[in-house]
Amino acid sequence: MAWFWGKAVRSCAAKGDASNNASLQMPVQYVKGVGPSLAEALQRLGVATAEDLILHFPRDYQDRTHLTPISQLTDGETATVIARVASADSRKARTGITVTRVVVEDDTGLVSLVFFNQRYLQDQFTRLRGRQILIHGQPVRDRWDMQFRSPDWEPLSEVDSPRRVLPIYPLCEGLTQGRLRRAIAAALDRCLHLMPEPIPHYLRERRSLPDVWSALRGVHQPDSIEEMERARRRLVYEELLVLQVALAARRNALNRDPGVQFPDAPTVAARFAQQLPFELTAAQQRVVQQITADMASPRPMNRLLQGDVGSGKTVVAACAIAAAVEAGYQAAVMAPTEILAEQHHRVFRNLLEPFGVRVSLLIGSLSAAERQAAYQAVATGQSHVAIGTHALIQEGVAFGNLGLVVIDEQHRFGVVQRASLRAKGVNPDVLVMTATPIPRTLALTVYGDLDVSIIDEMPPGRRPVRTHWKRAGDRQKVYEGIRRLVSEGRQAYIVCPLVEESEKLAAQAATDLAERLQREVFPDLKVGLLHGQMRPAEKDAAMDDFRAGRTHVLVTTTVIEVGVDVPNASVMVVEDAERFGLAQLHQLRGRVGRGEHQSYCVLLGDARTPEGEARLQVMASTTDGFRIAEEDLHLRGPGEFYGTRQSGLPSLRIANIVRDLGVLEQAREDAQQLVEGDPDLAEPEHRILAGQVRRRCPSIELASVS
Ligand code: ADP
Ligand code: MG
Repeated sequence: MAWFWGKAVRSCAAKGDASNNASLQMPVQYVKGVGPSLAEALQRLGVATAEDLILHFPRDYQDRTHLTPISQLTDGETATVIARVASADSRKARTGITVTRVVVEDDTGLVSLVFFNQRYLQDQFTRLRGRQILIHGQPVRDRWDMQFRSPDWEPLSEVDSPRRVLPIYPLCEGLTQGRLRRAIAAALDRCLHLMPEPIPHYLRERRSLPDVWSALRGVHQPDSIEEMERARRRLVYEELLVLQVALAARRNALNRDPGVQFPDAPTVAARFAQQLPFELTAAQQRVVQQITADMASPRPMNRLLQGDVGSGKTVVAACAIAAAVEAGYQAAVMAPTEILAEQHHRVFRNLLEPFGVRVSLLIGSLSAAERQAAYQAVATGQSHVAIGTHALIQEGVAFGNLGLVVIDEQHRFGVVQRASLRAKGVNPDVLVMTATPIPRTLALTVYGDLDVSIIDEMPPGRRPVRTHWKRAGDRQKVYEGIRRLVSEGRQAYIVCPLVEESEKLAAQAATDLAERLQREVFPDLKVGLLHGQMRPAEKDAAMDDFRAGRTHVLVTTTVIEVGVDVPNASVMVVEDAERFGLAQLHQLRGRVGRGEHQSYCVLLGDARTPEGEARLQVMASTTDGFRIAEEDLHLRGPGEFYGTRQSGLPSLRIANIVRDLGVLEQAREDAQQLVEGDPDLAEPEHRILAGQVRRRCPSIELASVS
């Protein structure tokens, strides 16, 4: 892309007239200096209006208060340099790669910039001969000289040159920092005064925050790093305040209407627990008390039960269900996969049927007749407990008298799905369960509207899974290890490499691997197969065979990731483990170590990226779900973390819940107070804030009215 912004600005000036009435929703084309091609590029970034431009925040800043003279560049040390373009040439290397070398100079010396396969840059730099450019990157010492390889660079324009702190924006093809900066500057000039100020004055005073207008200026066009930081902090606070107010309002709304009351829940649950084949751990007893105390109160329960994989959440849920059914209500249990729903169906039937509780299964793959029968049983109250997948929230499903909702592996579901199931009853109690250990920052955001119970203890006799990271070259030895454990009576899972693109490919890979292992490696053992494309009856049969010990090695995809419980399985091999995320590996590993036998997890594969290596090392060094979650949050960043995306919360534009924990806590405290004092956000000083909450967190609103 050639650098002729000067022309671009002039050629678009004619359009200025069309946009005399500035508005935040004004399409970007009407912002001065934004022509059709730029508008198209911006569209790719999701920037459609003047407001979007103003809210397109920098990802970083270049601090030009610290410029390095060329003579003082040091090998490997990131630096920012201003220099004149002296020459540019390209040549094709023997490898076929085109190398463009640009020599730049300042008063202290020369340095070269090297670019690969970007021939067009030669023309750009040739046109810039004698002009100053800004370079940012890590210089390396080559045989003869110091060079920057593919550095960030841009021509110094008249507009930007007086600025000492320059914003660096997320870009896409067709955009340059300069064009984007000018477009944003134009949008600010035109529309900044129209931006709403959602933070009430008294909170700005309390937290010493600048107003929205100076903050937006300060984040895009700061005069100093300090100003930028003040501005950023204010915008982070605003974003988190809106979110926290939404969460507080939802919590408030849920608590306002009385819910179902189960006065005897604590005693019924305790009696139920007494007759289990094992004694509940102290942690399980404690959470059962917390849950049943909620159930006994008229306030609707909204509780998150958190316990690491294998900590025994299922029986805790059974205690609550027993109490609900005893009081004459129905319960629903929603699980993310059919395999898990079927397993729950079996487990809950075993636990509850002896007491005359009728349990039905509702999954997508039922025949029409089966489905009708299940709908009927659930609607009439003939069935007391309905276990299922998303199929439970289908329109056709109606409950006679739903009093308790349990959602297992809650991170797999979104807020909206949670709300849909709850809406099948009249303010039923809700218990959501997750094995995902939640770092404090996330507990304050994603789950900010829930009370939390934690099972922080494993059933007795469990031994931590021993985890080994083995290179691909060790595969034969790993297979020998499996053979030895099978000869001792144990069983193994082998998880196929992750194929995210398609379920079909994943299934094919698993089928191939199972066949090969059966034929070449374990001809004398029974190798089973389980993947998501199998028909339900086939999946059932595969799980039954494995559970009963008829198959020794189960080759599978990530369908077994959550919930599956076969205590005799004591080895899990994860093929090409570096392709899995930490949360996934932790869940997978949770499938072993569920019985009295020492269990092993073998992560097979060579780490090809530093992150891959970091993940495998974390897995090999700890089984502590909390530590793994914290590491994951750091490695991946909050946006990607677990199901945050599907949680129904808005994605954050500027706040980073890892880095901004301090601000998050302030915003939460302020939001709680604010909502307590003004639950409907009806006070004039909260009006604009209320508008922002409605706009940015629509799913939260939706959940609170359901
Ligand atoms: P998760 O929390 O991962 O859902 P489960 O509820 O599947 O864990 O429990 C894991 C295993 O531990 C199951 O086989 C269950 O029967 C067993 N279990 C649960 N609680 C206890 C206990 N207090 N003592 C012994 N075994 C238990
Ligand atoms: Mg479970």
